[in-house]
Amino acid sequence: MDVHANDTFINFYAGAPPLNRLSFVRSKADVLNAHLSRAKFLVFNEGKPLVHKGKISSPYLVDLPAVQALVGDGFLSPPEGAANAKAEEARRAGCILVFLGVDERGCPPGEDLLKPHGTPYFAIDATPAGVGLYAVPGDAEDAARQGTFSAPPDSEWADARMSASLMDAWHAGLFASGRPIVDWNARNRYCPACGRQTYSLWGGWKRSCVTARGGPEERKKCFSNTGLHNFAHPRTDPVIIMGILDETGDRMLLGRNKSWPKGMYSCLAGFIEPGESFEEAVRREVLEEAGIVVGPVRYGSSQPWPYPANLMVGCYGRAPGGQTIRLDLDNELEDAQFFPRSVVARVASSKFGSKFTKDDYNQLDKAQEDRDINAPAMIDPRPMDKFDNFTKCPPATAIAGVLMRQWALGTHATHLVSSL
Ligand SMILES: [Zn+2]
Repeated sequence: MDVHANDTFINFYAGAPPLNRLSFVRSKADVLNAHLSRAKFLVFNEGKPLVHKGKISSPYLVDLPAVQALVGDGFLSPPEGAANAKAEEARRAGCILVFLGVDERGCPPGEDLLKPHGTPYFAIDATPAGVGLYAVPGDAEDAARQGTFSAPPDSEWADARMSASLMDAWHAGLFASGRPIVDWNARNRYCPACGRQTYSLWGGWKRSCVTARGGPEERKKCFSNTGLHNFAHPRTDPVIIMGILDETGDRMLLGRNKSWPKGMYSCLAGFIEPGESFEEAVRREVLEEAGIVVGPVRYGSSQPWPYPANLMVGCYGRAPGGQTIRLDLDNELEDAQFFPRSVVARVASSKFGSKFTKDDYNQLDKAQEDRDINAPAMIDPRPMDKFDNFTKCPPATAIAGVLMRQWALGTHATHLVSSL
């Protein structure tokens, strides 16, 4: 976890080291197909990764023969003389298949980037067509092409969040690029502009409206074919998450959602809204959730959060003194308090302070799902000197846990905090 590229803190899920994504070959079907026979495949079923049986921290990466029925013809080049060759570049018919990039560890430096020697990685969706979470009736031709996947006997489908949090940093980085892009393809089978079906191209990194493949008259049916649009490029939804310090710098504002596991407190967080900077989003969220006005804000580090496709933007901020916490503005939190550094340090360094069971993870997932629709009832803030109800905090694999630990236990945040 404690990895730095120059002075940048690299969080869990951010890849260590990342793949070379080779985005400039995504439109070349022949190059992508040439990678398939040497590739390792990260397999998902409704967002659950395939792992070794009884060892959920270990992704079960398979070779081409194991997924050949799903891969079929691979990626398709535009037909000879195609009118809209651009719209056909590396088109994909069949199940979701995404080129993630090439692992260049151990490769000679300075090699031709168009002919890398490392191991290619793909993410593939083995979710049975037409059932479950992603049950959207697909293109009939594509459904007919899609085979079925037989999971090896020594493998199993694992809870995504629990297994990924236990993976080593490199595999967690691989997982964090594979899961969101498979999920995004699965959720975007219809054109946001006209409602017609979409199809996959560019190695799984773009989807286009089916009208893009037709002649000029067909293309006119959907305005996503004209001008510059960003309707069908993969999403990354930014969320700010912040360690807000009081005027002394020795207490941090933490809150808890009533749906969280008992005793758990964490940094406040929220989605960045259109038109906001990081700093403005920090100030708005803290005011809405805790009634606290924040002054200076400093960016710390960021973390991809693949549930399903967030980017957590970690910040520190300073709140002027003389303020009172109030939870009745948006009623999102059950409690919020400024906790002394010693208390945060004690919980963050305790053996069980960040241990979560499968039920805890389910509860956290449920809390996230309920977040937008069920505002919990307001409960009066407890006296500021009662801290014994704080027994759990996020692990260091989550950026909230990093923000808390860097401030309470380490020195990484010192230069940021001292400039607030
Ligand atoms: Zn359309």
